[in-house]
Amino acid sequence: MNRRQTIPKHLRYTIMDFNRQFPDDAACLEHLKEQRFPGGIAHCEKCNQDRKHYRINGRPVYSCDHCGTQISPMAGTIFEHSSTSLRLWYYAMYLMASTRCGISAKQIQRETGVTYKTAWRMFRQIRSLLSETDMQLEGSAVEMDETYVGGKRKNKHGNRGMRGRDNDEKTPVFGMVERGGKGRVMAFVTPDVKAATLFPIIAERVLPQSTVFTDDYPVYDRLGMHANCYEHKRIQHKQNIYVMGDVHTQTIEGFWSLIKRGIGGVYHSVSRKYLQTYLDEYSFRYNRRDQGNLIFNAFLKRIVEREASPLVAADRGMTPA
Ligand SMILES: [Zn+2]
Repeated sequence: MNRRQTIPKHLRYTIMDFNRQFPDDAACLEHLKEQRFPGGIAHCEKCNQDRKHYRINGRPVYSCDHCGTQISPMAGTIFEHSSTSLRLWYYAMYLMASTRCGISAKQIQRETGVTYKTAWRMFRQIRSLLSETDMQLEGSAVEMDETYVGGKRKNKHGNRGMRGRDNDEKTPVFGMVERGGKGRVMAFVTPDVKAATLFPIIAERVLPQSTVFTDDYPVYDRLGMHANCYEHKRIQHKQNIYVMGDVHTQTIEGFWSLIKRGIGGVYHSVSRKYLQTYLDEYSFRYNRRDQGNLIFNAFLKRIVEREASPLVAADRGMTPA
């Protein structure tokens, strides 16, 4: 059965809708301008007053009709300095937003016809829009868990005692997910899974007095004594107990399976360097899983929300590994 058919009509956004909304570069530029300057570009910095602005033919800029100062809606966004058609950028975002299990730079290359290097750069830039690791979790119950990603060894809970050399190739990842409410997830690449590393992440993002669910891994031992007065409930995985009433960590473990399936199925492997942006992309989609294909709109909104972010700037000029 085609999964797409199960998306309610009001949450559908198909390739037909995309083609209708964004038939060409001009439509994309107009959309971008409208996002950054709602109602149109009104103010001219040089004139220091409101002026009419006109689109300059053949160029992605708007010009003050009094002094000729030009404003580019692309300045400060991921599209700045890119010679790739804006519509291809939008289409690549559409592709990345429409998949449930992620797509690779290779697929963007195939679908858009740009070179691999360009596709890879677009892929990285679009991903850089999606980080939400600075948000605060809402709701009063949060599951948390740590895992290892990458490397050659199969990762199972039972392996956790066998750390050290065998796990050196694996990257530790820590995750938290809200119970109820919006059910949002956050995941972080961490240098290790010590309390000194994990507790500050928890304290910054989980409201005081929340109920927190973990397994019996010793790093969480002192979570119930935290200054934020968390109510700590633990499931005894060592005794092969996985659910006890509402005490479990199955939601966050479900998310771990999702990202590991994604890595295995789409990318084969993800290097430590890019793992955080991979987690960001998966979290972003997971957190909007009730929005159907309208996730594309959320991608488009991030262009403006994340403009001039240090991550975007730092990523410029990087070439494929
Ligand atoms: Zn002016």
